[in-house]
Amino acid sequence: MKIMAVNAGSSSIKFQLLEMPEEKLIASGVVEKIGSVDGSGKPLNGIVTLKYNGKKEETNPVIPTHKEGVQLILDALIDKGILKSLDEISGVGHRIVQGGEYFKDSTLVDGPNGTVVKKIAELADLAPLHNPAHIIGIKAFYNALPSVPEVVVFDTVFHQTMPEEAYMYATPYEWYEKYGIRKYGAHGTSHKYVSQRIAQLINKPLEKTNTIVCHLGNGASISAVKGGKCVDTSMGLTPLEGIPMGTRSGNVDPTVVSYICKKEGKTAEEVVNILNKKSGYLGMSGRSNDARDVTAGMNEGDHRCKLTFDVQAKRICDYIASYWLYLDGKVDAICFTAGMGENLKHLRKNIIDRLAPFGVKLDEKLNDTFSDERIISTPDSKIQVWIVPTNEEVMIARDTVRVAGLK
Ligand code: ADP
Repeated sequence: MKIMAVNAGSSSIKFQLLEMPEEKLIASGVVEKIGSVDGSGKPLNGIVTLKYNGKKEETNPVIPTHKEGVQLILDALIDKGILKSLDEISGVGHRIVQGGEYFKDSTLVDGPNGTVVKKIAELADLAPLHNPAHIIGIKAFYNALPSVPEVVVFDTVFHQTMPEEAYMYATPYEWYEKYGIRKYGAHGTSHKYVSQRIAQLINKPLEKTNTIVCHLGNGASISAVKGGKCVDTSMGLTPLEGIPMGTRSGNVDPTVVSYICKKEGKTAEEVVNILNKKSGYLGMSGRSNDARDVTAGMNEGDHRCKLTFDVQAKRICDYIASYWLYLDGKVDAICFTAGMGENLKHLRKNIIDRLAPFGVKLDEKLNDTFSDERIISTPDSKIQVWIVPTNEEVMIARDTVRVAGLK
């Protein structure tokens, strides 16, 4: 059966079409610049990229709304002969950033205006950029494929197993009761995939495998996974908490906000926006949010670029060390995943070298070799270190099959 795994953003829709249960990728693509207009309000062309059969094709139609975006994807699948008919699509799974405390598992959507969509809308306060866009995506697919089941797969669900002491902030308790102020975490689908995959790779039952997952992409988070269940994670109420990222600061003393408000005459919202969009790699290096540019700067001898990586590596190790303790000192594997985790060998070395007191040892040759899934620690390393490329779309497709009861 064929399943669409969808990630709808405010101006884009990414998708993968997968053959299940084989988990084979049939086609993938992205529709970008939905609703783009120029200064005078004139519609601008969008971008539709489609990858299939080893080919990559791009077209540039105007894409006024998500409705047209979804239709363009479906038309392309038929036009290119990837599908004979849309009836071949058995289910659609949507990535949803915020499920709050309400959603404890992936969930079957009860129609475009049902209770599930309403609840996702109610949770939009906690993910204002993401949840509304996901709903637009769900509705657009209902419009195009009214009788196909849709399932929502939440980034927060995997972290719902955190104990109270890990997810509560030491802020007034009423904030939690009234407004749901607590840690929810993010990237849960990726953390779940990697922690399940590593158990297979090291040939140990999932219930007995303890993993520290380092998801290091433009957004980055670390999690401690005990027997397949998340016990702590670095992201918080929003994806700003934790380690420094492409444009996000990670943890700072909250007083920085009021201090900069006073010094620069800004509102708290403006300063938090800077912590989200102009900090991290971009803010520290002054060059770019992209690790490749910051690496180039470091190699040219730029102190701030080197410092950017050192600050991030130090903070990552702060988490790894505390998670080691939280996992009773019994960690089977430290896993790197996502764009930087999979590709940035100097950052991995920077991190692993700091973990020498735990007896963790990097095999530099394996670290430098390019291939996908692999171990990069030495045989005598006390904790194995692995690279496990993440695959959130496969997790979305698996849950779509399971939750929609597809056979
Ligand atoms: P996200 O999905 O959060 O946008 P990704 O997982 O795609 O992010 O990771 C993006 C980061 O990974 C960027 O900082 C980019 O520089 C880095 N990256 C991607 N590919 C490479 C590569 N081949 N070498 C070094 N860094 C890379």
